[in-house]
Amino acid sequence: MEKVEEDMNCIYRDPNEPVEARIRDLLSRMTLKEKVGQMTQIERRVATPDAIKDLSIGGMLSACGSGPSPNKLSSDWADLTDGFQKSALESRLGIPLIYGVDAVHGHNSVYGATIFPHNVGLGATRDADLAQKIGEATALEVRASGIHCTFAPCVAVCRDPRWGRCYESYSEDTEIVRKMTSIVTGLQGQLPHKHPKGYPFVAGRNKVIACAKHFVGDGGTNQGKNEGNTILSYEDLERIHMAPYLDCISQGVSTIMASYSSWNGCKLHANHFLLTEILKDKLGFKGFIFSDWSGLDRLSEPRGSNYRSCISSAVNAGIDMVMVPYEFKKFVEGLIDLVESGEISMARIDDAVERILRVKFVAGLFEFPFMNRSLLDTVGCKLHRDLAREAVRKSLVLLKNGKDPKKSFLPLDKNAKRIGVFGTHADNLGYQCGGWTIKWSGGSGRITIGTTILDAIKAAVGDETEVIYEQYPSADTLARQDFSFAIVAVGEEPYVESFRNNSELVISLNGADIISSVTDSIPTLVILVSGRPLLLEPLLLDKIDALIAAWLPGSEGGGIADVVFGDYDFKGQLPVTWFKQVEQLPLHVGIDSNDSLFPLGFGLTYNKERFLD
Ligand code: BGC
Repeated sequence: MEKVEEDMNCIYRDPNEPVEARIRDLLSRMTLKEKVGQMTQIERRVATPDAIKDLSIGGMLSACGSGPSPNKLSSDWADLTDGFQKSALESRLGIPLIYGVDAVHGHNSVYGATIFPHNVGLGATRDADLAQKIGEATALEVRASGIHCTFAPCVAVCRDPRWGRCYESYSEDTEIVRKMTSIVTGLQGQLPHKHPKGYPFVAGRNKVIACAKHFVGDGGTNQGKNEGNTILSYEDLERIHMAPYLDCISQGVSTIMASYSSWNGCKLHANHFLLTEILKDKLGFKGFIFSDWSGLDRLSEPRGSNYRSCISSAVNAGIDMVMVPYEFKKFVEGLIDLVESGEISMARIDDAVERILRVKFVAGLFEFPFMNRSLLDTVGCKLHRDLAREAVRKSLVLLKNGKDPKKSFLPLDKNAKRIGVFGTHADNLGYQCGGWTIKWSGGSGRITIGTTILDAIKAAVGDETEVIYEQYPSADTLARQDFSFAIVAVGEEPYVESFRNNSELVISLNGADIISSVTDSIPTLVILVSGRPLLLEPLLLDKIDALIAAWLPGSEGGGIADVVFGDYDFKGQLPVTWFKQVEQLPLHVGIDSNDSLFPLGFGLTYNKERFLD
């Protein structure tokens, strides 16, 4: 293909020209095919240099787990993404790609990156500054691998813990979620004083394009069903689920992802009212809207059937960049045909492309399309790990401390003679990190670099203290009468979205049996490692001496030891209501706190201060 736009004096190439003038100039030079190419986002496993160049592909992504193979180090990622960018820049107009990943708790696809607690844990901290700092650290690690965009934050307000994405939500409480949207400023940078409302913003090469998701009501579906239906009046949808998007928009969030879910039976991906009339027109959002992964295919039953009409519904509803991971040629051809036949207007296409180009110009991709090698040292650096450990400490919620309210069980004694550490989650980094870590559905064992609970306990105790570890403690081990106490860490196995759903909300892998057997013999602290509240039968709870909700703490889960041994106090407050029985769900804000096992906001401290909203 002829490369005609070598003219370095043209307006769109000139960083000194205003962004809107650059957009107009570039748009006027584009063919329909190039415009449609810009609206297309493909997965790296199907991308070829020729397809990127010839179709002028606008975006790429690596699904979690689909990085460079076999290595997943940051430098390998950078080589991979820079290679694709090179192809994009060789297209006729040389428009750079936006490369995205799901960096949803740190740069979680990359081996050795810092993995922060999942959002539910951050919601327990209620610490907006911390969220902003985590955004800053994540931006550096993501940019170090040549990636420009993260599909984060998830600002879902999870109203039912049966939802498999509860842990991606900061809270069931809108106000807490709103507070934690400060991560957008961390990711994209601090908005300048007089920034036009709704206009996207990215402060240079060390920042990333953020994506608030999933618009809107994803956390409010009936029975917490993933991709389900949220049945609410518009007023309630706005008040409960839309409010955090206003905060993201006022921080200049550049992109927003549509939700797979429906609102009152209408899929969000085809919802002109919510995507265009509300989000773009009423809220004034000037960035672009991503579809979710194969979100268009899900507009029909069976999935993927009648694809032409799915494209038409989604693009006409207001979707701008379509995440079509695999069958992108079908999408490109279909969309061109729909425009040529008049079913989708050229004005709609121009609106979508303008928005996409706006984000690319604002993010400086024309000037800095490639990775910033000087950032490589930030990946998994001590500073970021320290920040993650601080986040872990602040996220822990102390639910019980002593069978006798007047006699605290914690803090534990670092110089105790012999400590038993038991349970499936005591020495499992993969379990600590949960889903969206190295692989989409997470993993088990040493899947990346980090500190397990056991590692940290061993490092914390005195030289004379013996630490005995068994995952499933044997009767023999428990019969030893000389344990000072036991620490049992149990919880959920990693899961993602609706995959491996645990709608019973029980402790996995016989965790309740482990707790029972240990508590029968030894005074016990139980650490629950889970993405949500789990069922705690009254009899079991009575047997436990102390109980901590540790959420999914990530690679620096060792921070738990800092608090358990009393170096720091507990600060966390429940970001979600703890139910008594699954049958009670949905049980949330506004329900009489007597109905819950522990109400929203509950948390104990060593100072005998008792948090409660
Ligand atoms: C999820 C999104 C994610 C996308 C890309 C989808 O399955 O719903 O949250 O950003 O995949 O990985």
